[in-house]
Amino acid sequence: MSYKEPAPITGQHLNPFESMMSRFDIAAKKLGLDDSLYSVLKSPAKIVMVSLPVTMDNGDVKVFEGYRVIHNANLGPSKGGIRYSMDVTLDEVKALAAWMTWKCAVVGIPYGGGKGGIKCHPQSMSKGELERMTRAYTVAMVDVFGPEKDIPAPDMNTGQQEMAWIMDEYSKLKGYSSPAVVTGKPLVLGGSLGRVEATGRGVMVSARSAMAKMGLSPVGATCAVQGFGNVGSISAKLLATQGLKIVAISDVTGGYYDPNGINVEEAIAYKEGNKGTLEGFKAQKISNNDLLILDVDVLVPAAMEDQITAENANDIKAKLIVEGANGPTSWNADDILNTKGIMVVPDILANAGGVTVSYFEWVQNRLGYYWTEERVNRRADRTMKQAFETVYQAAQKHDCSWRIAAYIVAIDKVANTQKLRGVF
Ligand code: NAD
Repeated sequence: MSYKEPAPITGQHLNPFESMMSRFDIAAKKLGLDDSLYSVLKSPAKIVMVSLPVTMDNGDVKVFEGYRVIHNANLGPSKGGIRYSMDVTLDEVKALAAWMTWKCAVVGIPYGGGKGGIKCHPQSMSKGELERMTRAYTVAMVDVFGPEKDIPAPDMNTGQQEMAWIMDEYSKLKGYSSPAVVTGKPLVLGGSLGRVEATGRGVMVSARSAMAKMGLSPVGATCAVQGFGNVGSISAKLLATQGLKIVAISDVTGGYYDPNGINVEEAIAYKEGNKGTLEGFKAQKISNNDLLILDVDVLVPAAMEDQITAENANDIKAKLIVEGANGPTSWNADDILNTKGIMVVPDILANAGGVTVSYFEWVQNRLGYYWTEERVNRRADRTMKQAFETVYQAAQKHDCSWRIAAYIVAIDKVANTQKLRGVF
């Protein structure tokens, strides 16, 4: 299987989000999306910008910029994380919100896409300062958020604690407990079993589905995983349970290679007892780029964006790439991989297990009835398998890569709802 898709005509360097939109353009063209729907789907439905005055521990008042963008809410309430970083800009939040629209649509969960962020340096803030800033943001967004409207979740530098503060502040403002207003909460506040492993589990299920289509047996297939955080370590652990031999893992300290196979559970325990890194792990030390070009059957980039580029794509030997990270392949590598016949399960499909279980968390909150981990996993696996099959069929129909097929499935779904709901 090898495809040639036109490269976007948008200059040399694109940031990962422009990169994502360039794939949107290719898919929209293949789908024959008409110009008016194209312009509706490219534009965010709502942008909210707020100033958040917060009293710092030393008594000074600092004003933080906060954003929430709802890209599209055709399929249901908008869903998407909140990130705390000095790099937060409106453009980035807009693009990430669009990304969420396509991700939710491709796995068929009834959500639109949104994203939020606060420009801040969380590492230099105290817990009290973070709490006051998070509560100020919630107050400012009280008319935006809502279980039926817009449901935030964790993203970069936010986690269960921030979600607990948002849930608490929102509930106080409304006068009743409203756990369904956010997902990614601690278990005791209505979080879901299975959420921590959900993204890595979805990566494993996607890899298995792809391997079945490619006639690759998981037993004994070799695999390299870049990144050893939540997504990378759990993907590696679960792929190993399926019989794959994990020959290389990596983190920010570099790559660790053992052709006889790495014991992933041992590596996880090592990392936990070693200040959270793999530094010094007993295996041959290689670079992160060496890991990407290893002669393996399956490659899972699960660290960060723009790792597979036009510079190294020609050297990649894996037969299958399963994108655990968001945007790990830059747009100008797509054509090279396609020409080489390397199959790619794209990020908006491969790592959607996380948002799928977030959806289950919201469902359980609204039901007031909590599922066993086994039930959560079973339903998530089914969702991921169905999504893969839909994308696979679209790729056959449109004679395109799985990445473009995933965008086609998502754009088609959202465009159809737009037609049915109508435009003024
Ligand atoms: P994490 O912070 O838990 O782990 C990131 C890992 O990548 C760490 O092991 C870190 O050492 C490593 N890393 C950082 N810089 C690196 C570099 N230059 N080279 C190699 N390794 C490097 O993050 P995570 O939650 O596992 O997320 C990883 C990716 O998956 C991100 O792109 C994220 O957006 C995406 N993602 C995460 C989820 C989720 O549920 N956690 C869901 C969807 C997508």
